[in-house]
Amino acid sequence: MDQPFSAATRRATLEALSAETVDLLVVGGGITGAGIARDASMRGLTTALVDAGDFGRGTSSRSSRLVHGGLRYLEHGWLHLVFESSRERGTLLRIAPHLVRPAPFLFPVHAGGRVGRWTLAAGLWLYDALSLFRNVRRHHGLSRKGVRRLEPALRDQDLKGGAVYYDAQCDDARLTLATLRSAHRHGARIANYVAVTGFEKAGGRVRGALTLDRVSGARLALHAHVVVNATGPWTDLVRRLDEPSAAPLLRPTKGVHVVVPRHRVGHTEALTLTSPLDGRVMFVLPWGDLSILGTTDTDITDVPEEPLADIDDVTYLLRSANAYFPDARLNLGDVVSAWAGLRPLLASPGATSTAAVPREHRIVESSGGLVTIAGGKLTTYRSMAAEVVDRVARRLRRLDGRRVPRRAATDTEPLPGGEVPDLDLIVRDLVDEGMEEPLAWALVSRYGTEAAAVANLARREPALARPLLPGQSVIGAEVVHQARREMAMTVADVLARRTRLFLEDPHQAIEAAPAVAWLLAAELGWSAEERDKQAQAYRDEAARMRRAITPARPA
Ligand SMILES: Cc1cc2nc3c(=O)[nH]c(=O)nc-3n(C[C@H](O)[C@H](O)[C@H](O)COP(=O)(O)OP(=O)(O)OC[C@H]3O[C@@H](n4cnc5c(N)ncnc54)[C@H](O)[C@@H]3O)c2cc1C
Repeated sequence: MDQPFSAATRRATLEALSAETVDLLVVGGGITGAGIARDASMRGLTTALVDAGDFGRGTSSRSSRLVHGGLRYLEHGWLHLVFESSRERGTLLRIAPHLVRPAPFLFPVHAGGRVGRWTLAAGLWLYDALSLFRNVRRHHGLSRKGVRRLEPALRDQDLKGGAVYYDAQCDDARLTLATLRSAHRHGARIANYVAVTGFEKAGGRVRGALTLDRVSGARLALHAHVVVNATGPWTDLVRRLDEPSAAPLLRPTKGVHVVVPRHRVGHTEALTLTSPLDGRVMFVLPWGDLSILGTTDTDITDVPEEPLADIDDVTYLLRSANAYFPDARLNLGDVVSAWAGLRPLLASPGATSTAAVPREHRIVESSGGLVTIAGGKLTTYRSMAAEVVDRVARRLRRLDGRRVPRRAATDTEPLPGGEVPDLDLIVRDLVDEGMEEPLAWALVSRYGTEAAAVANLARREPALARPLLPGQSVIGAEVVHQARREMAMTVADVLARRTRLFLEDPHQAIEAAPAVAWLLAAELGWSAEERDKQAQAYRDEAARMRRAITPARPA
């Protein structure tokens, strides 16, 4: 599809959808829905996708940002899951080299820790074997001295040694967006801020969805031969719009991450640790100048639209990190930001703890024909999507006899921006044209080959070459690019998901909000009143997050 992925296209999409019947309507624009829309459109199905908020706004922008084989799963014997995840890790490194990057992980072993040296060595051998020894590199063991050399700030007391193994880090929100844009290029009609509020039925069968366009306030009926519910933690809520008494498929849990300045922790590598507080596996991950500490895993009773971290979550993570980096003495004053995500875990009555709930998925069909995909994880979204589309293809065949291709080339066709595997080459081109190297790297790691389009905007209008915040490598041209090519509709779409300044700036990039609102206003045709309202909505969101992790003052 030649049309850009923009607000104007969104409007045209909704107009077109109200008048046609598509083969497949996907509800939910997280990574699962995005993968389904991509796979289906690549197999030639007429496909539509709507999300109640921004793409990835649910769990898919709130993960640990790892594309991983799932080392932890070995403990539970979920070997098939490790095998599948390892294969998918290889695929994603190939099709989105700008967004999914290989990363070494140090796993230190301390005396008295839950995982001993021999267990770790055996586990990592199996981990490499399950990737058919095709991981980025094979793991290697380290002596105590070797660990100290890599991470001098790590607790020396009781240190026995460790190992380095390989996984990948990614930008989850941008991976979701790139997947949706690929679907759009293959003809899928996609819109954010369109909530499904009910289902259209004919003869007891689901034939479409009733929706609310949260931008215009219009109510629209969308028609489809098959509807797939891919709403992550909200799966059961959406199922109940079809079958009010449907028993829950999910047992969602909350996972929190905390961001602190990297120099305060004093680490260089990504680390896999077991929390001394409860033995849970946790990560200390480098993210530019910052460190991400995560994660928690707590049961929840209801599923909020906007989950927030709280003080207990944050304290747990800081205390766990302090146990490994005793000189850091991290405290609440170090916290740059925190985020909470909801894991769409399958309900598993036998599981004794949240960690023992399988990270698998299930596809179920209601009596009215609503197809629901529940569970899963970011890493395996592509293969889950293919399974769902196989199911949809069978339904369409029963309906009108058509033969849908058995597979799509989702594992070989690069995602938008991922066409050139050697990122150095793209960076060098930008530098040759006069861009500072750090900015060139920042743009290439967000946009891949499309960084050139952002650079062109900045070259044509030098004011757009300025950073949105001093010292940060996000420039005004990105806002324009995101409105024109990435369907950014709000200030938070720009600052929280298409860039991550909301989480990376200690003041949640509040100072950048007016400039972003100005740029978006010019692109989206907002009035001055709307522009101010949008900037304020962003400030309110930032204040909510801050409040949730700030201790209450004693009365
Ligand atoms: C803390 C944490 C860490 C994780 N870390 C990793 C990791 O490192 N690696 C990994 O592989 N996996 C990880 N996961 C798992 C992974 O993030 C999720 O499995 C995945 O993001 C779920 O994607 P999804 O599309 O199913 O759900 P979501 O991303 O939540 O998307 C569901 C979408 O449905 C939309 N929606 C809801 N209701 C409606 C409605 N009525 N109408 C229209 N749209 C609607 C929502 O707005 C939302 O955008 C982690 C999860 C958590 C919580």
